[in-house]
Amino acid sequence: MPQVETNRPEVCQLFAGGEWCEASGADRSPVYNPSSGEVIAQTPMCGAEDVNVAVDAAANAFPVWSETPPVERARVLFRFKMLLEENFDGIARCTTREHGKTLVESRTELRRGIEMVEFACGVPSLLTGETLENIARGIDCETLRQPLGVCVGLTPFNFPAMIPLWMYPVALACGNTFVLKPSEKVPLTAIMIARLLEQAGAPAGVFNLVHGGRECVDALLAHPQVRAVSFVGSTPVARHVYETGTRHGKRVQANGGAKNFVLVMPDTDVESATRGVTEGAFGCAGERCMASSTAIVLGRAAEAVLPELAKTVDQMKVGPTDREPQPDMGPLITREHRDRVARLIDNGVSEGAHVLSDGRRVEVNDADGFFLGPTILDHVTDEMIVAHEEIFGPVLNVMRMDELDAAIDLINRSPYGNGASIFTRSGKAAREFKHRVKAGMVGINISVPASMAWFPFSGWGDSFFGDLHMQGKEGVQFFTRQKVVMSRWFGEGSVWNPR
Ligand code: NAD
Repeated sequence: MPQVETNRPEVCQLFAGGEWCEASGADRSPVYNPSSGEVIAQTPMCGAEDVNVAVDAAANAFPVWSETPPVERARVLFRFKMLLEENFDGIARCTTREHGKTLVESRTELRRGIEMVEFACGVPSLLTGETLENIARGIDCETLRQPLGVCVGLTPFNFPAMIPLWMYPVALACGNTFVLKPSEKVPLTAIMIARLLEQAGAPAGVFNLVHGGRECVDALLAHPQVRAVSFVGSTPVARHVYETGTRHGKRVQANGGAKNFVLVMPDTDVESATRGVTEGAFGCAGERCMASSTAIVLGRAAEAVLPELAKTVDQMKVGPTDREPQPDMGPLITREHRDRVARLIDNGVSEGAHVLSDGRRVEVNDADGFFLGPTILDHVTDEMIVAHEEIFGPVLNVMRMDELDAAIDLINRSPYGNGASIFTRSGKAAREFKHRVKAGMVGINISVPASMAWFPFSGWGDSFFGDLHMQGKEGVQFFTRQKVVMSRWFGEGSVWNPR
């Protein structure tokens, strides 16, 4: 595993054609430990030269890997899964160190990522096609699923272990080769996991790793050997990746940003709703595309739930996550992002929101990290900037309304459509919400309905660009193309051509 010294931050290496190597250029971007504010590594900002080396390696490995029987490809993934389990705590610590989320949160995301590897291990069953005999007299028809070639993964900072694992285990299982470009803010977890895949026996060139930002991404999007691109990140970049990738003739799936609503009905169980909204809004310090960033409280739910919510939030401990005891919530990813979120809170207040809990006043001793406490803004209205902009921090907007219909209409006016949840005891209200709400993932008494490996991660609207989502059977469809074969054999001895 790479050792990173605090006082001499190591420059991360690339992995291409089975070799770990230095990037060709000299540009670097700092990687922080957000709990301490220290620079712990440097990410090389790769350009077209490094991209060409990695894509060529992937293209060269494709002919043999794609002809390797699916069960043999699955065996590499079984070994990979065992190595991920053996190194579980080390990986979680690495994620916490470079990202800042708590150890429990790092373990949870890794568990979700390992489930994707487990899903991909079933690839011999997942790739089976369909057959119909006698589609016409003496003619049979079958479908085959074949890999695409070199596939690319571009990932955000907020799930350094899980999101890359949404992509390449399935892509590789289906017979593709892969180039991953993780977020320049969190390259260390991706490197640690890549070393385990190498150890598991993935042949040279089957999996490759490059680093960087826009220049690197644009070189990958324009490369003629790249067949498909999976992207997860903010909506403006998702749109750019989708438009540029498809213009270059690639298949693209691009998950974007979000603004998710949780609707609290007057009949809700107060304790469950309070716990759900708190976890939904402040888990991973709100840096989640499925964060419940807006609670719509209906009628008397406001009097019942809001005091409990403020009490729970004010008891949350915020602090460094790179040591014991662990806090309830860690820092944000960078100083700039923390300051941006604080400015958005100021903005909400100046537009008339009431502060129910104020995270700007948080004090953390013995750590110079990027901290901001959990914040609740009450009486947020549809005209305010905080009501629309993705904050991506520990801020919960509360909107007060009276009617279920009006609340669903408000949710449906959002350009995003990742997740939406309802807390209620009423089957009728839940059914109405589930049916009418314009969001790809819906929770009923669950605040973060992020789907798991076996189901698609199913954003709508500006939260997703493309046709086939990540995870589940749609993931397999994305990383394969279908062939339909019709066959007829000549000769005597059939019903149609008796001897
Ligand atoms: P980001 O869009 O800044 O970066 C994502 C990736 O794109 C990174 O690899 C980055 O290096 C690259 N990138 C950044 N700017 C680019 C540009 N101009 N051109 C080309 N590539 C560029 O996102 P982030 O800040 O790392 O992550 C947070 C965002 O990701 C939030 O908006 C969040 O909602 C979203 N997200 C969405 C999902 C989902 O499944 N819908 C999941 C997690 C995060």
